[in-house]
Amino acid sequence: MSEAARIDGKAFAEALRARIGAAAAAFLQAAARKPGLAVVLVGEDAASQVYVGAKAKACEEAGIASFEHRLPATTSAAELLTLVERLNRDPEVDGILVQLPLPQGLDEQAVIAAIDPDKDVDGFHVINAGRLAVGQEGFVPCTPLGCLMLLQDRIGDLSGLEAVVIGRSNIVGKPMAQLLTDANATVTIAHSRTKNLPEVVRRADIVVAAVGRPEMVRGDWIKPGATVIDVGINRLPPEEGKAKGRLVGDVAYAEALEVAGAITPVPGGVGPMTIAVLLRNTLVAAHRHAGLDAPEGI
Ligand code: NAD
Repeated sequence: MSEAARIDGKAFAEALRARIGAAAAAFLQAAARKPGLAVVLVGEDAASQVYVGAKAKACEEAGIASFEHRLPATTSAAELLTLVERLNRDPEVDGILVQLPLPQGLDEQAVIAAIDPDKDVDGFHVINAGRLAVGQEGFVPCTPLGCLMLLQDRIGDLSGLEAVVIGRSNIVGKPMAQLLTDANATVTIAHSRTKNLPEVVRRADIVVAAVGRPEMVRGDWIKPGATVIDVGINRLPPEEGKAKGRLVGDVAYAEALEVAGAITPVPGGVGPMTIAVLLRNTLVAAHRHAGLDAPEGI
């Protein structure tokens, strides 16, 4: 069999960002303001600093106003909630994102619950989780929505396909399973207590791995021709003489490449989709707030 196609999430995300840029420019004409995203970062977490910087840069490039709020790790729950309330009321702000994890002592669920669900562009608020569960319009978490976009771009109609989602987190696994169900796939959610995981995965036409365990899914777990979406981002220990270890996914890429029909690489697969979908959700929020129809094809 020939080698699997490489699903180029980076190129797909770039094209999506270009469409968002064009739609944001049209929004500016129609609403006399840019769509706006507020990003709140509490504390000094190094990875979070990088993510927040990348989000602000992506906003700027797409013509979305970015309002950054960097608060010290000593910020109290009351101070953080006051800021969220202010952003909820701010008409320039369409989307609010509180970068997780929060420093110890701050209750993440309480902060997410304080965000106006109609500005919750991360889709983490229970109202949005509920809307997704019952099929109402809301906001869907960015990473699984990005995975769905890649799958539909690659496969087209997912009706009747067997999908196995490995992982049941609130931000990836569960919403992913719901999106696939809504797209008419037959969905199995596998997790840490699943028995005979390789056998379960072997029946899948679509595999979405969101576990956080380097190269756990082996090539011989994959049904020949299956489409594999690897959400995992894991850094291996550095090899001798190197400062940093390699980034790998949850799937043993080289092995899976021999068997799958198509697969996302790590990096360059799902990763770039997350920020692109965040911009997309912000743009959609702006249209809803302005009473305008959401742009098509985004
Ligand atoms: P999580 O730790 O919240 O959830 C992991 C899930 O994997 C759990 O539901 C657990 O039941 C399951 N699991 C753990 N061990 C297992 C095993 N041995 N067999 C089967 N299932 C097992 O993680 P998460 O937030 O969902 O993230 C998962 C991975 O995706 C991580 O590597 C994370 O870095 C990555 N991630 C990437 C992006 C992106 O933008 N690409 C976004 C979010 C998360």
